[in-house]
Amino acid sequence: MREHEIRPEALLKKYIELSSQDAQKCFQNNSRQLIQCIACDNLKTSFQFEKDGFGYVQCNNCKTLFQSPRPPISEFEAFIGNQNHHVIGPKFSFQQ
Ligand SMILES: [Zn+2]
Repeated sequence: MREHEIRPEALLKKYIELSSQDAQKCFQNNSRQLIQCIACDNLKTSFQFEKDGFGYVQCNNCKTLFQSPRPPISEFEAFIGNQNHHVIGPKFSFQQ
């Protein structure tokens, strides 16, 4: 079985389009914070690119690529609890 058989290209394009809309609709830009490297805790990073309003940086120490500055966890929780965003696949929730 090939990938396009289980993930048709038209469905993948629609998923990417809806995800982009959700990212812009559900997350604020004014409350994001720079975070340290998720792999080695290094504070020094280099900007790499931006996608759908989210910046991505690379750790200057271990070269891990990750999303930063990052919205607060409360925005992710609101996003998951918000029925106005698009859902393709199972829903997840953060355990407290
Ligand atoms: Zn690192």
